[in-house]
Amino acid sequence: MRTQLIDNLVRADLHVHTALSPCADSDMRPLQMLLTAEQHAVAVLGVVDHSTARNAWAVFDVAEAFDVRVFAGLEVESAEGVHILALFDTVETAMAMDGFVAEHLPDLANRAEFFGEQLLLDGLGHVLGLDPRLLATAVDLSIEEIADRTAALGGMSFPAHIDRQAYGLISVLGFVPPGLQVDGFELSRHTSPADARRQWPQLAGLPLLTSSDAHLIEDIGAAATWISSDLAAAPLSAREWGQALAAELVARGFSDS
Ligand SMILES: [Zn+2]
Ligand SMILES: [Zn+2]
Repeated sequence: MRTQLIDNLVRADLHVHTALSPCADSDMRPLQMLLTAEQHAVAVLGVVDHSTARNAWAVFDVAEAFDVRVFAGLEVESAEGVHILALFDTVETAMAMDGFVAEHLPDLANRAEFFGEQLLLDGLGHVLGLDPRLLATAVDLSIEEIADRTAALGGMSFPAHIDRQAYGLISVLGFVPPGLQVDGFELSRHTSPADARRQWPQLAGLPLLTSSDAHLIEDIGAAATWISSDLAAAPLSAREWGQALAAELVARGFSDS
């Protein structure tokens, strides 16, 4: 007879930035990030940059040396002004999304003196160059178009920090678009899933996760989503993993508030 075991839970922080994001600290380099994630008991790490995945290869390149599962991709600002995470399990799929997003960015240059430098890195953290484009800006794609393309490329997507005034789905749109094909809805570290469900009844039954949105090394893992260790290690593609995460969070969501 099978014994019912209580899930062994581990932490997933699916939203941290590298130094390619103009607003992120220049210490946000692959080795330091992965080491910090491991030290803070983060079993699954999502690495993104604004509008680009050009540092994804560097993170994947060194990730095998750490006891941390990595997904990498982009944080895209939709035409409506909503931030959405697009995460992948291979460099190729992340870069396919990078190319798609690049076609929809305005043709503007970064002004590093105002916004910060955008460091292109290798796995060891060497600076290979600077991305000259204005990355922290909106593309001319709807949130649905970003989510649909992410899924078509085999990735998972989550509207980011939906509880935040700035770039958060609820304050920007005022509602959750019905039928939006995403794998969950991310809360900032300032709002618990239980509080969010009380404040926004429309979130009832939806998978809610929490991430750090770390721009500084010490913030990696400062907020995270508890998931089963089975899920953390499950041999699934990014798209399948996102769906499994959603199923697990929904199953738990009815008892966590
Ligand atoms: Zn954001
Ligand atoms: Zn972010």
